Amino acid sequence: MDAQPYDVVIVGAGPGGLSCAAHLAGSGLRVLVLEKNDRLGKKICSGEISSKVKTPKGFDRGHPWTEIHVGTDDTKTVVKLPRPYLHTVGRPEIENHLKSQSDATVNFSEPVTKITPAYVETPQGRYSYRHLVGADGSFSAVRAHLGLPSKNISGWAFHCILDKPCTEFQMYWLPKTLPGSYGYMMSKNRDKTMAGMAWRGEFDHALAAKAKEWVGKTFGIDPTNLKTEAMRGNADYRGWEFGNIYLVGDAGGFLNPLTTEGIAFAIRSGEGVAKHIIGKPEGRKIMKRMADAHIWQVRLFHLFTNPRLPFCWALDWVLKNPNGRVRRKLFDWVFWNLIDG
Ligand SMILES: Cc1cc2nc3c(=O)[nH]c(=O)nc-3n(C[C@H](O)[C@H](O)[C@H](O)COP(=O)(O)OP(=O)(O)OC[C@H]3O[C@@H](n4cnc5c(N)ncnc54)[C@H](O)[C@@H]3O)c2cc1C
Repeated sequence: MDAQPYDVVIVGAGPGGLSCAAHLAGSGLRVLVLEKNDRLGKKICSGEISSKVKTPKGFDRGHPWTEIHVGTDDTKTVVKLPRPYLHTVGRPEIENHLKSQSDATVNFSEPVTKITPAYVETPQGRYSYRHLVGADGSFSAVRAHLGLPSKNISGWAFHCILDKPCTEFQMYWLPKTLPGSYGYMMSKNRDKTMAGMAWRGEFDHALAAKAKEWVGKTFGIDPTNLKTEAMRGNADYRGWEFGNIYLVGDAGGFLNPLTTEGIAFAIRSGEGVAKHIIGKPEGRKIMKRMADAHIWQVRLFHLFTNPRLPFCWALDWVLKNPNGRVRRKLFDWVFWNLIDG
């Protein structure tokens, strides 16, 4: 089979791959994006973006969240914030916006099934590359081709779907119920809500059952007949540049394990890799800053989620009454550093 020649082949049309394609626009390089799904925006994700994601004037950022319901194993408090910390944009909206900025060829319904040092293959064809970008998320085939594991840290989110728009953004710190996990109620998109739990490690049916029970008890809903879904996140960063193969977003492990925010990091790493490919020194600088920030996120994750260390219980103490004077100062400092940092 003859291979169609491209300068850059990007595997995955999520925020990471599409941002990379957008930043390669106008470079004169022949760029191909291969996406296994039949359209954009199918990823199981909330599609919430923080201020880290810059959007052009007039772009509809969706519902702004200025209130957060903060819970622990046995408390729940509403915290009012002076400005939006997240916006419910929605995955299709984010991805369509990024795609509109690129001049790459985007092929849908083309899962990459084989990767060699010279070409990638899908059921429809073979494509040779000078540069290959793995932007194929937490089950990345490109990462697997490089022989990199996804263990430290990866985790799963499992939730029930409610067929109504989300009206309260709720986050629960649960060191007693399940150390290292958190509970949530947030938007699935602009029309639906998801309520569930995220934990570190592999998918486990017993944990999923526990999450369902927790959802029923915490939100006073009967989860028996609700649709559920589960998705993995990958925060196991082990480098981004492997010769002429690069990893961005979740494929590279750029997810923040503490907040599970990943869209901003996928977009930024896509930009960094694109700039590097077209020979701009800024690309490497972006990737270095991202790697440094990620190392800190992982350190904080280990400190806060270890129930044998005092940090886990200090956070629990803050979150039990985040509006108390001293606690509110600590809450604001941690919260805004995580959201804006
Ligand atoms: C339940 C949940 C909620 C989340 N909510 C948020 C949130 O609100 N805000 C936020 O910032 N982050 C959130 N995240 C994290 C966020 O979803 C990811 O960090 C982000 O999507 C990573 O973007 P990406 O482009 O690297 O990968 P992805 O978005 O996973 O995109 C990868 C793309 O590659 C495609 N693909 C995979 N394999 C192949 C293949 N072999 N061939 C071709 N195509 C392939 C996939 O179909 C997909 O389109 C959430 C995660 C979960 C699990």
